Amino acid sequence: MTVDNTRTDAQWRAELSPEQYRILREHGTEPAFTGEYWDHHEVGEYCCAACGEPLFSSRTKFDSGTGWPSFYQALNADAVAEKTDSTHGMVRVEALCRRCGSHLGHVFPDGPAPTGMRYCINSASLRFQKNQD
Ligand code: FE
Repeated sequence: MTVDNTRTDAQWRAELSPEQYRILREHGTEPAFTGEYWDHHEVGEYCCAACGEPLFSSRTKFDSGTGWPSFYQALNADAVAEKTDSTHGMVRVEALCRRCGSHLGHVFPDGPAPTGMRYCINSASLRFQKNQD
């Protein structure tokens, strides 16, 4: 389990829904095409559903066809941590909120230009904030 120093495990359990806890704190995955944001197109920022840190901009969101919200870039270099994940018989790169250590999804090197990266993120790990303009 990722070390987290913003909340205790008991606090996370109290604050998050059971589904969010399973995904964010136990490295779970929501079923494809079931989450709130895979087909969401409003302009704004996607924040960590656990700690509120801004993680992705709608400007870098693209339709990957996977059924999970997908981005080609994190909001900035400090927002999202990446870590090798060798579970489930695969070697993948896990994406985590750098601030609170919560699990977001995985990163794959098959995304669109300009980065060629695909951040495949669980809707349950995100909370959308619409731009105020
Ligand atoms: Fe967080």
